[in-house]
Amino acid sequence: MNIIGLTGGIASGKSTVSRILERLGAVVIDADQLAREAVMPGTSAHRSIVAAFGEGILLPDGAIDRKALGSIIFADPSARKRLESITHPAIRELAERHLAELRRSGVPVAVYMAALLIEAGATDRVDEVWVVYVDRETQVRRVMARDGLSRSEAEQRLAAQMPMEEKAARGQVVIDNNGTPEELERRIEEIWSKIGR
Ligand code: ATP
Repeated sequence: MNIIGLTGGIASGKSTVSRILERLGAVVIDADQLAREAVMPGTSAHRSIVAAFGEGILLPDGAIDRKALGSIIFADPSARKRLESITHPAIRELAERHLAELRRSGVPVAVYMAALLIEAGATDRVDEVWVVYVDRETQVRRVMARDGLSRSEAEQRLAAQMPMEEKAARGQVVIDNNGTPEELERRIEEIWSKIGR
């Protein structure tokens, strides 16, 4: 089974690309969904997070309050490290379980979509890295439109991430998404026709 790691910056178009790939027949695993699954009440990661950060980061129903946790780790790099040392192995285990299932059922190509594929050091677990690329101005405009942010708020989000150019340099395939959705679709169809089947 060929595993493609699909990544890119904020609002670069990863979800859009994975929807196109699914329509073409790819099986997509969404790391963000796995991240939520990995810390559900009852999991060992959930217990470890409560032990590390206290019950103050729980919602009334016992689920982890991702926003509360997000604001703690945003301000504290060592807290981020602590959290990631709990979540990354849990997400990795889930991903491996899902991928093993797909392999058993004979799926030829699986797409692992992860915003932080490169930052999390997960590139060695995929066969190739595809980076969805947009230039800075397009990215700022799409973040502003989608999230209802001002230009300076959008720029702040971008500044907290690995620069797109750096990400693109790490990809075996760079998918340009500066054009229209139709152009993106054609581009993906072309790439897929070379590897799909
Ligand atoms: P994030 O990781 O930040 O959630 P993402 O990389 O998955 O984002 P998408 O959700 O696919 O990105 O796209 C971000 C926004 O840009 C969406 O509102 C989407 O509709 C829009 N968008 C994506 N591609 C294009 C395009 N080619 N033209 C115009 N808008 C686009």
